[in-house]
Amino acid sequence: MTSTDQAPDARALPVPDHDVAIIGGGFSGIGAAILLDKAGFSDYVVLEDGDGIGGAWHWNTYPGVAVDIPSFSYQFSFEQTARWSRLYAPGAELKAYAEHCVDKYDVRRRIRLRSRVVAATFDDVAHLWRLDLADGTAITARFVVGATGVLTQPNLPDIPGVADFAGTTMHTARWDHGVDLTGKRVAIIGTGASSVQAVPNIAAVASSLTVFQRTPIWCLPKPDAPMPAPVRALLGAVPGAKRVGRLVSQTYVEVTFPLAAHFYGVVPLAAGGEALGRAYLKRAVRDPEVRAKLTPDYALGCKRPSFSNDYLPAFNRENVHLETGGIAEITPDAVVTRDGTRHEIDVLVLATGFKVFERGNMPTYDVVGAGGVSLDEFWGAQRFQAYHGVSVPGFPNLFSILGPYGYNGSSYFNLIETQTAHVVRALKHARHRGATRVEVTPEANTRFWERMLSRRPRQVFFQGRCGSANSYYFDEHGDVPFRPSPTLETMWDARRYPLGDYRFDAPGTVVAPPTLVAAGAE
Ligand code: NAP
Repeated sequence: MTSTDQAPDARALPVPDHDVAIIGGGFSGIGAAILLDKAGFSDYVVLEDGDGIGGAWHWNTYPGVAVDIPSFSYQFSFEQTARWSRLYAPGAELKAYAEHCVDKYDVRRRIRLRSRVVAATFDDVAHLWRLDLADGTAITARFVVGATGVLTQPNLPDIPGVADFAGTTMHTARWDHGVDLTGKRVAIIGTGASSVQAVPNIAAVASSLTVFQRTPIWCLPKPDAPMPAPVRALLGAVPGAKRVGRLVSQTYVEVTFPLAAHFYGVVPLAAGGEALGRAYLKRAVRDPEVRAKLTPDYALGCKRPSFSNDYLPAFNRENVHLETGGIAEITPDAVVTRDGTRHEIDVLVLATGFKVFERGNMPTYDVVGAGGVSLDEFWGAQRFQAYHGVSVPGFPNLFSILGPYGYNGSSYFNLIETQTAHVVRALKHARHRGATRVEVTPEANTRFWERMLSRRPRQVFFQGRCGSANSYYFDEHGDVPFRPSPTLETMWDARRYPLGDYRFDAPGTVVAPPTLVAAGAE
C-alpha cells in the first residue's frame, strides 16, 4: 500500500504559519474553531470568502428566510440560548447568533474575511498545506479543516434569454433589499425550500406573482409558534428546561429526517408523511386543478421536503399563479412558456438553488494531495468516498466537516460537533505522538464506504419512487453521499473510531501516496 523512506533533516523543514487553517466562516467553521480552541489547538485562522460571517445565514436574506429545523436543535449544544423569537427562528436571528458565538468564544480576531481560497496543495516533505488566496497571497498550515458547506454557489438556470431580461433579476441567495416588490409583477422560478419561504412574502406585496414550477415539493405543516418573552424567560430560568426542549426537538428531527430516509425499507415513516402531506394539500389549496399540480408523484424523502404553513395557501390568492408548462425562453420583459404564453413581469426571482454534488464544487477550490493527486479527479473517477465523511486517503492533514457520507440529515449543528470531535481526536493523538502527518488508511476508508453502501436496501433514495424527483441528492454516479446512520451512531463513531484507522508520521517522513483502487463495494 504505502512505502516509507527517511527524508531530509526534520529541523530544516519550514514551519507553517498556523497549526490549523479552517476554510469557511459559517457555522461549520465557527464550531470547528471553538471546539479546536477548547481542545488546545488555539493557533488557527478562519479564512472566509465573504465580507461577513454566518455562511448560509449571511448570504440568504430573502423575505421569509428562517430555519426548517426547530431552533432547540439548530444551535450548538454548548451554547444553547432561549432567545429565539419563534420555535423556528428567522434567518436574522441565526446571523446574530453567529456573531454572538464568534465574540463569546474569541474567534473573531482569528477570522480573515474576503479571503477566498483558490487552491490547496500538500507539501509531501514539510507536511503542511499551502493555501493560495484569490488576492495572490498564500498561507501555510499544518492541518486544514474544510468548512465551506455545500449549498453556497448559486445555480443560475440555463434558460435561453435569462441574461437578457431587462428588469431586475435576483437569486434568492443574493437578495437585493434595495428592490421594492410592492405593486410589481414578479416571477419566481423554482419551488425548493427557498421558494417555499419566499413565495408567501412576495405574494403579500406584489401585484402579481407567477410561480414557475418544474417539480412539486412535498410541503408539510410547520409546527412553528412564537416564543413570547415570558416563555423565553421561563426557558432561561428553569434549570434543565432548554435541555428538555432540545431532547424533544432532536427526537422530532431524528424521526422526520434521518430515520424516515435511511430506514425507509424498515419503518414506513415516509408513507405516513406522504399521507399527511396529501391531507394538508387538500386542506390548504382550494382549486383541485392547482392542488393536483402541486402534488408530488415521487416518494417523500427522495428530495428535500419543506415545512410551511403559508406556502400552499398562497396559491389560493387572486394574485398568485402557478405555471407548470415549462419555460421556453425569457425575453427582456417576459417569461415565455412552451405553449407560447408571454408572462410579462418587472422582477425575476431565481429560486433555482445551488451547485451541489458536481465537479468543482466539493470544494470550490483545487485540492492537490500527496503525490500531486487532485481530490476532484479522485472523486470523479472513484466516486465520492470519505472516512466518516471527514478524511480521504491520499489527502493527509485535511479534514472536512461536510464531506461525502458525513451528513445524515439531522441538524447541521450535530454534524459540526460530531465531525469536529473526530478531527480533535486525531489531532490530539498526533500531538501526543509528535506526528506532523495524519492520514486515514485506504483500508479503513474502504471498510467505511462499503458499510455505507451496504445500507442502500433500506434507504428511500434506492427503494422509494425517486425517478421523477429531480433530486440534487443524487450525484453523477447515481450515488447519494449522505450518511445512512442514526445520529447516535455518528456520535459514537466519532469518539470511538480505532486510532489505527489513521497513520501518524513523524516530521520529515516521506510517505509514498497510497494506491487508490476503486473499492468494489457493489
Ligand atoms: P433547490 O431545492 O435546489 O430548488 C431549486 C428549484 O429550482 C427547484 O424547484 C428546481 O426544479 C428549480 N430549477 C432549477 N433550475 C431550473 C431550471 N433551469 N428551470 C426551471 N426550474 C429550475 O434550491 P433551494 O430552494 O434554494 O434550496 C436548496 C437547499 O437549501 C434546500 O434543499 C435546503 O437544504 C437548503 N435550504 C434550507 C432552508 C432552511 O432550512 N430554512 C431554506 C432554504 C434552503 P427541480 O426540482 O425540477 O430541479
